[in-house]
Amino acid sequence: CHNSTDRTRLVLLGGPGVGKSAIVKRFLFNQYPEKHKPTVEDLYSHEFDVGPSIPLKVDILDTAGDFQFPAMRRLSIANAHAFLLVYAIDSKVSFEQVKGCFEEIREQRSDFQEVPIIIAGNKADIGMNRREVEFDEVCDWIHDHLPKLRGKAMECSAKENRNVREIFKAFLQLSKIPFRNP
Ligand code: GDP
Ligand code: MG
Repeated sequence: CHNSTDRTRLVLLGGPGVGKSAIVKRFLFNQYPEKHKPTVEDLYSHEFDVGPSIPLKVDILDTAGDFQFPAMRRLSIANAHAFLLVYAIDSKVSFEQVKGCFEEIREQRSDFQEVPIIIAGNKADIGMNRREVEFDEVCDWIHDHLPKLRGKAMECSAKENRNVREIFKAFLQLSKIPFRNP
């Protein structure tokens, strides 16, 4: 299902404040804004260097995640080629919200069997004592819900720039696009 511009589109979904925007800004601009700036929707265009003469144009859609705009949400789900579902490791609620997003995608997309989904546990820099979601639990969950070739769970930190590039690398791999430089 290609959108009108016919470019590969990666859509970020997840609850508010988990660091969706921070992940995108770290990846695209190597910036980390401390402050949470709620936005309705931001669309970025990025060219991945996937071969000598074939830059891959990817649209990255950063959504609001506050579930206030169901129509926009439906549209963003309808137009995605791949999803990045983000929770924060210090918030059990945010992982539940990721499961909710997953259900929405499953219900809405008739081609669900072909859609790559990455689940990212952000804020992995936060100390052990504040952790509410174990990575093993997320891996078990994704194992139960998606085949290996279509789903991947990872932890990351936009703040400390840990595993952020790897998320986008995984997106290319799950989308069956060979990876060189992000
Ligand atoms: P969004 O609503 O999902 O887009 O979340 P934001 O990107 O706006 O981030 C929400 C808050 O979490 C901000 O105060 C960020 O500074 C903070 N944050 C984002 N990423 C990280 C991270 O990797 N580690 C920590 N400790 N805080 C983060
Ligand atoms: Mg945001």
